[in-house]
Amino acid sequence: MRDILPPESGRWRRFTAVFADVVEAAGYQQVIPPLLEDLGVFTRIGDATDVVTKEMYDFVDKGDRRVALRPEQTASVCRAFAQHRPPVLPWKVFYSGPNFRYEKPQRGRYRQFDQVGIEVLGVDDPMLDVEVIALGWEFYRRLGLQQVSLIVNSLGEPDDRGRYVEALRVHFEAAGEELTEQSRITLAKNPLRVLDSKRGPDQAFIASAPQIADFYSGDAAGHFDKVQAGLRALDIPFTVEPKLVRGLDYYRSTIFEFQGGTFESAQNGLGGGGRYDGLVEALGGPATPGIGFALGVDRTLIACDDEGCFPAVPLELDAYVVDVVGGLEAVAITSELRAAGFTVDRSFENRSMKAQMKQANRSGARFAVIVGQTELTEGTVTIKPMGPGDQFNTPRTEVATMLASIQNDPQDT
Ligand code: AMP
Repeated sequence: MRDILPPESGRWRRFTAVFADVVEAAGYQQVIPPLLEDLGVFTRIGDATDVVTKEMYDFVDKGDRRVALRPEQTASVCRAFAQHRPPVLPWKVFYSGPNFRYEKPQRGRYRQFDQVGIEVLGVDDPMLDVEVIALGWEFYRRLGLQQVSLIVNSLGEPDDRGRYVEALRVHFEAAGEELTEQSRITLAKNPLRVLDSKRGPDQAFIASAPQIADFYSGDAAGHFDKVQAGLRALDIPFTVEPKLVRGLDYYRSTIFEFQGGTFESAQNGLGGGGRYDGLVEALGGPATPGIGFALGVDRTLIACDDEGCFPAVPLELDAYVVDVVGGLEAVAITSELRAAGFTVDRSFENRSMKAQMKQANRSGARFAVIVGQTELTEGTVTIKPMGPGDQFNTPRTEVATMLASIQNDPQDT
């Protein structure tokens, strides 16, 4: 778990703001689920995944309830849907915030990490899949990322998926002891996840495994064709990856992943999502189709660093107030300028003119607003550009107006 300090923290805030801009423009509204849920919310959705079985921060609280810090937010959103039954469908929502997984920490993998994401509940239409994927794509474009690639797959309808999983089981069981021990354990729980293995000895068996496309029903194949047609209509480049399965168990039909171009392959997932059915039902609501994605904030920002886009920028001050007549002038001037919309800081502890000017310089402010004995007597302030340009006097009452007029073009002074 990490501290996010300035100026990096400012970048996090802008990241979420850009995300909100992109998805609000498509009618998504924010939900803020709690960080802590009843353990059952997560065990009911994925008892065959590492995320749920091994990596959860779960504990018994003071009221003897088994609770868990959320490892992801789709389950919480579905729990909220089942609980509140929003009357208007589709329910289009977005979220942002931290999740917790007890994973082995490394670059791009933390035990507390943030995600932004969207979920849409109540509509089963391939064009919605296209909208959801396109919003993720647009968000990366807005960050300035050029090297993100999109891979898509379909897991078919639940029946297709069921028959496919059975075929995989037969296929991998035939490999016997030649499959790695970890994969044999995975096989017993969820044969699909064996396809996720990056371990060398498993690769030959993964390469020769049955393909999901051979198990699609007509409906599933039609749905997936329409999704691909929609992506092509939007000129969004993608690759169909028949072995893409995704970490959580609840997916069906369309699934997708955004991958960064600058990472090791085990860590290149910037985000992903897909369709899920049965999740709302498992959490006590009516049968409801759903689709969504979650994008990893930590990892996407590493991708931004690698690609040199969406940088962290230090806070920019418009003015720094230097007061060598006791400090009360600075109280009044900072308050007045801040109320007028300027970003303003000041010196404290009655330092000398020289020391305060040094602070003004270091602050990166564009202008110093200086009050000394002469200014106080005359009812003026001195405005000194911290870059090129000459300092000048202006009436104390006009400091905000003057700053506004010189801000865009200091040459006017
Ligand atoms: P998931 O919820 O597992 O589908 O993950 C979606 C995205 O969240 C991934 O593509 C990563 O970018 C990010 N993510 C998942 N787990 C972690 C983690 N432990 N640390 C940092 N980012 C993560």
